[in-house]
Amino acid sequence: MKPWIDKARCAAEPKICPPIKECPVQAVSYVEDDDEPIGGRIVIDEVRCTCCGLCVSICCGHCIEMK
Ligand code: SF4
Ligand code: SF4
Repeated sequence: MKPWIDKARCAAEPKICPPIKECPVQAVSYVEDDDEPIGGRIVIDEVRCTCCGLCVSICCGHCIEMK
């Protein structure tokens, strides 16, 4: 099981994204992407991620799940 972001529900707003600030291994970040309707997306580095599940509980948009 690893975290998966439902992009359709994610605000992709790095300034207010708790997982970016709180991930214990800094695996969550924001990337600009002109192909996205809102200009960017939140991404999870699968190499760094320890699958602790914290981001699932602190995502304010409830868009991250373990699958
Ligand atoms: S808190 Fe959740 S919904 Fe908000 S930007 Fe971060 S991943 Fe997306
Ligand atoms: S599951 Fe844990 S380690 Fe992985 S991105 Fe979420 S908070 Fe970070």
